[in-house]
Order: sequence, then C-alpha cells, then structure tokens
Amino acid sequence: MSIVEVRPEKRKKNIIISLAIAVAVIVAVGITVAAFLGAFKSDKPSLSLIGKSRVELEVLTEYEDAGIKATIGKEDITDKVSCKNDVDTKKVGEYEVIYSYEHKGEVYSQKRTVKVVDKTAPKLTLNGKSEITVSLLKFYKEPGFKATDTYDGDLTKSVKTTQTKINKETYEITYTVADKSGNETVKTRTLIVRDKVKPVISLNGQEYVYIELGGKYTDKGARASDDVDGDITQKISKSGSVDTNAEGTYYIKYSATDKNGNKATATRKVIVFNYNPSNKNRVFLTFDDGPSSNVTPKVLDVLKENDIKATFFICNYADDKKPLIQRMINEGHTIGIHGYSHDYAKIYKSDDAFMKNIYRLRDKLKADFGYEATLIRFPGGSSNSISKNYNNGIMGRLVKRVEAEGFIYHDWNVSSNDATGTTVKTKIIINATINTLVKKRNNVVLMHDSSSKTTTAAALPEIIVRAKQKGYIFLPLTPDVPPCHHSVTNK
Ligand code: ZN
Repeated sequence: MSIVEVRPEKRKKNIIISLAIAVAVIVAVGITVAAFLGAFKSDKPSLSLIGKSRVELEVLTEYEDAGIKATIGKEDITDKVSCKNDVDTKKVGEYEVIYSYEHKGEVYSQKRTVKVVDKTAPKLTLNGKSEITVSLLKFYKEPGFKATDTYDGDLTKSVKTTQTKINKETYEITYTVADKSGNETVKTRTLIVRDKVKPVISLNGQEYVYIELGGKYTDKGARASDDVDGDITQKISKSGSVDTNAEGTYYIKYSATDKNGNKATATRKVIVFNYNPSNKNRVFLTFDDGPSSNVTPKVLDVLKENDIKATFFICNYADDKKPLIQRMINEGHTIGIHGYSHDYAKIYKSDDAFMKNIYRLRDKLKADFGYEATLIRFPGGSSNSISKNYNNGIMGRLVKRVEAEGFIYHDWNVSSNDATGTTVKTKIIINATINTLVKKRNNVVLMHDSSSKTTTAAALPEIIVRAKQKGYIFLPLTPDVPPCHHSVTNK
C-alpha cells in the first residue's frame, strides 16, 4: 500500500502561499477601486486649509494667513483661488478668512476663523519706594501709580487699591488693574507705621547771643513739636547756664524726647563779651550789597577758616541765594538790612518809601528763615548827600524814624576802599583797612560782597592775619554793640 504522506512542514508552507495570494488579490482590487473613485472625483476642485481652521491672534500683532492648498486632480490651482481677508489686527473680535474657487458654475470655499484677542495684562508702575515708613497711618500719602495697557490705553483711573493690615505696624497696599479683556495686573507696596521721626526744637530768638559783660541774660527758651505727639514744648529739658560776669562762650542745651523715644537736641551759644571799647581792640567786619554767588561764599569760607563772625547788610536775594543766607545764619553771622532795593531814587523818594523798603526785606527774612533782623545800614550811609537829589532833609528824619520803630542803624569808621572803583586792587583794600584800624575802639569796617568785589574776598585773609597780629579781635554787630554813627548831612 502506498500512502501519499504530506509532511507537516510542507502543509504549513502551502498555507502561507495561499494567504499571500489572497492578500495580493485584495490589494489589487482596492487599488483598482481607489483609482476608479479617484478618476471619478478628479474633475472637482479640492481646497484644504494649511494649518488649523480656528486660530487665535494677540491684538496689535501682525497676521499672515497660513494659506491654502488647492488642486483639481493632479493640477495645482492654489494660485487661482481667491481670498477674502478682512482681519483687523488692531481690534479685538472674530474674523473670517475665506478662500473660494469657482468651477463649472459652482463655488468651492474654505474658511478660517481668526480670533483677535487681548491677552496682555496692563503695565502697572508704582511711584515711590516699595516700602514706605510713616509715623502715623494718616500721614501716609499715596505717591501715585500709572497703569497703561497696550490695547486699552491709560488705565490709571481704573486702578483699585486696598489696604490690608499684616501685623501691628505693617500694612500691605495692593494695587489691582484689569483691562477690558479681563487681564489683571497686581502690585503691592509695604507700609510700615512706626515713629522714627525726632521732634523738632526751634529756639526762640537767636542761636548765637552776644551779651555785654555784666548785663542780664534772659533765656528766651525754645519750642518743640513732634509729628506724632504735637506740641511737646513742655517736655523740653534745658541745661547749661550763663555767667554774664565772666567773658566766654556758654552753651544752653535743650532736649526733648517724644513718646516713642526719639530724642532731639538744640544748642544756643551765648557769648559774653566786654563791649567797653577801652578794654579791647575790636574789628566788626561788615559786608554790604550781597549776597552774590561768587564773592559771598568765598567771604564765608575765609570767615569760617578763621572762626570769625561778621555782619552782612544784605539786599533782596533770589531763591538761588537762599542757601547763602542760611549759611550766614548757621555759621553765627549777623544779618542786617541794607534794603530790599538799593536804588537811591526810589528809596529816598519819601520817608514811607524808605521804611517800606526796609520792612519788605525784614519780612522776607522772617518768612524764609524765621530770622528777626533789627540792624540796618542806610544805602550810602546816614551821611549820604545823594538823597538830597530826591528828598531834601530826608536823612535827618529817617535816622530818628528807624530808631523809633525799633531798628538800630550802623555806619562805619573804617573803609576798606573797596567801593572806590569797580574792582579795587587787593593791596589797596588791605592797606586801607589795616591802616585805619584804631586800637581800643570798635572798628566797624565797610566792605562789600557784591559780585564785582572779588578782590575784597581775596584781601580778607591778609586783613585778618595782620589785624590779629596787631592784637585785634573780630566780632559781629549785635543789638548790644554801641552803634557807630556818622553825622547826618541831608537833614
Ligand atoms: Zn550799599
């Protein structure tokens, strides 16, 4: 018997071959069907968007549509497709980009929706520091802020602020601003409420008091105020005393402490001098017609280097000269009134015109510095004859009137000759001054610190050295100094 035996290996191989044939048939049929269908569709345009059909765009940025791919069959017709694009990138909103192609009376189209949005938060800037300390909550003054949005513009008025207490002395101020699209920006500032401010002590009367030996010294006291506690004058404690029977410099010290322990101090210097001219050789340097920005600082520097106090008979000053006046006060010099104006024709026109010219400057000094000026010097001196051109006999009346109204006027008995020309040689000024000083009297020296008097400032160091060598001492004019008067001409 013969049996055809099929071995298992061979059977498996046959199955694989059969399967391969079946797959090949299916693929072939599929390709044929696809080709048939493709041929059927190929005469219709096909439009397909490149990219997504909905896109979002930040307002105020540029927009370029990604475009379209269009074909009919194998033919690329992209260039022939028309496009309607009215996207306004400057305005938030929804827009459409429409591609269309007309083919055999039918319109084929595709559209993309473009949403222009504002997702940018406003810019918020705070003025001032991010941490601010005040003595009391009510002293806090909002330093301000600014909010701008690239799309909505200025939003400063829409900023909302809230204050949150963090602890006993700390607050957080929150600033919030949102644009019309709801984009929000938040900033914060720390506010610390803590009294770190010292009280302010103001002396009644002058910081430098010159008093005659054997005279009576009455302390005018001081006032103290604190930003939190208010008037604390009652809390001032005073130390130091003045012996008017002994020449020297005395210090009266005032101190005041506020409730939070901030302490302030102020000192008055009381100089007890023997004004009796028979005892000492004194020089009172006086500078008229200033202040000037070029000469006055030099004069002040020289006086400071030599620890000398002098007297400035000033005229009206511009705002930029205020620091110079303040410096005169701080450094212990006396400020006298020469007059708001120096114009002879105006000020010697009438008695009242002259007095107004004095009061105008006195009031300005008081308002600007709290300085009470009582000494005056007549422009041209009380002996001037120029006033006769404008008012006969005015000087005779004025010398009485100024004293009746509480002023003390000073002329001079030494002239530095710095007014004999525009700019007088330094040597002439030095010699004129030194040679006219007289021992055992009060020498009141006329000098000038107006802007042309550069040589006066230059002469000053040598004048001081030489006068000191001769045994002179320098003092400022004060109400205690017996005034030096000329004999009046126009009376
Ligand atoms: Zn003058």
